[in-house]
Amino acid sequence: MADDTLVRGTRARVYDKMRRREFLQRGLLSLAAIPAFRFETLAAGKELRRPRTPKRVVIIGAGLAGLSACYQLTQAGHDVTILEARTRAGGRVHTLREPFADGLHAEAGAMFIPDSHDLTMHYVRLFRIPLIPIPMQKRSSVLYLNGKRFTSEDERTINRLLTLSPEEKRLGLDGMTDKYLIPVLNEMGDARSTDWPPERLKKYDRISYAEFLRSRGATPDALRLLRLNDADLTGDGVDAVSALMVLRESALNQNAVELYTVRGGTDLLPKALAAHLASKIRYGSPVTKIEQDARQVRVSFLQAGNRETVTADYLISAIPFTILREIEVTPQFSEQKQRAIRELQYTSVVRVYVQSRREFWTDAGLGVSAYTDLPIMAIINSTLNQPGTRGILESYMAGENARRAAAMSEGERLDFTASEMEKVYPGVRKNFEGGASVAWDEDRWARGAYSWFKPGQMTKLLPHIARTEGRIHFAGEHTSSWPGWMQGAFQSGHRAAREINEAEGTS
Ligand SMILES: Cc1cc2nc3c(=O)[nH]c(=O)nc-3n(C[C@H](O)[C@H](O)[C@H](O)COP(=O)(O)OP(=O)(O)OC[C@H]3O[C@@H](n4cnc5c(N)ncnc54)[C@H](O)[C@@H]3O)c2cc1C
Repeated sequence: MADDTLVRGTRARVYDKMRRREFLQRGLLSLAAIPAFRFETLAAGKELRRPRTPKRVVIIGAGLAGLSACYQLTQAGHDVTILEARTRAGGRVHTLREPFADGLHAEAGAMFIPDSHDLTMHYVRLFRIPLIPIPMQKRSSVLYLNGKRFTSEDERTINRLLTLSPEEKRLGLDGMTDKYLIPVLNEMGDARSTDWPPERLKKYDRISYAEFLRSRGATPDALRLLRLNDADLTGDGVDAVSALMVLRESALNQNAVELYTVRGGTDLLPKALAAHLASKIRYGSPVTKIEQDARQVRVSFLQAGNRETVTADYLISAIPFTILREIEVTPQFSEQKQRAIRELQYTSVVRVYVQSRREFWTDAGLGVSAYTDLPIMAIINSTLNQPGTRGILESYMAGENARRAAAMSEGERLDFTASEMEKVYPGVRKNFEGGASVAWDEDRWARGAYSWFKPGQMTKLLPHIARTEGRIHFAGEHTSSWPGWMQGAFQSGHRAAREINEAEGTS
């Protein structure tokens, strides 16, 4: 069994890239099975054609979607202003450097970059952002199940604990995913295209991922095992999420080989973009109202507590729907758009960071992550790629577990997390020096971590999420085919910029 047999999970089902590569080599899944992409993401960094008449464009939000749209439009000669509520750029890409010692840092949001994310890699190269690969041997995850810690070598013991079918026992976790998932990924087609999904795939949206797995023969305990590893998607488990959403994400990520983190923190990426666009961004400017007529859009925002307005030819809303819900829009968006804005839900995520005097977990075989059946869910080795003897262990909670942790005070979160981690890695308490936590539901300008779809919602909402409303265009991870990834933010920023550039013709 390959070293990465147990590798799965939080923000990183992509960790199984090596397995996928083996799969490719075995010829079971050939690249030829994936049709040529029509969508523009393959043309990473492709410049827009210069417009006949440059337009005045306002963008709400200086996250990666807003920044990349601004970058593209500015390059083409348009006059762009970004209104950003916070005093910094980057939104859900946010590196925490305080309160940690010795220059250590941890990520509140984006941490991992798979090399198949061509647009993210494009901006990384453009701004010379330093990356560090996560070595293959460090990608193996540990599992903590029924009070015991397992590595990939312990597969037999795991099998004894669970009631799996003889075939599931033989296949192991990795083989099970291959059996249940891979054959269907070939059906996904061009999951990046704007008119995806085709009619034939909608059957997968009518069922949950749990129902999908059951329909393919998965036993309840296999589901339990797979659920551990997919918990991150919604945190509410494989019963809650549309099977089509998991299948799309797996199809889009299956060609990743390398996995990187940013040396010095992921926020170096939005910081570089924002520095380049500095004169275009107005910070501390939360938008409160959007109006449009046949000729222009008018945006009201607060600046130092005073209400100001700005007019433009076009607007890009690059903020989460959780926040757009609160903004007054005149005239109101179409019924379908309003419903999408209202009904699209966002994953609750709480991350708790524990600073430790020593990285003792390295001796205990922890690479990048451990997945547990405890309420702290996943344990991430936040300082895997950072120098020094101190380290940060992080718990990554989603869904109901995250909401429970969010209701605690910061001190309670740390105490609870350290005690739970102690079960998996004895020594956490002894080496505990303090820490920090982030609850994304509480973030005033995000109100959630990333968007996800319940069964039926991809069919119902997807056609309306990114669709233009008059002079208003929509960007953000939630409008892309890569929700929950920086790649999705970039993809959507490029699309919205292209829509505006082409709206009245280019020379
Ligand atoms: C916990 C977590 C883990 C993640 N892990 C990864 C990972 O490992 N790899 C990866 O690639 N991606 C990861 N992501 C996803 C990635 O961070 C996001 O997809 C991406 O950053 C979203 O960018 P965006 O521009 O769409 O939205 P945002 O970054 O949310 O940008 C929106 C901006 O709009 C601003 N804003 C909001 N309301 C207003 C208003 N009324 N007026 C003005 N401005 C406003 C906000 O302040 C913000 O700056 C993770 C995200 C989270 C939360």
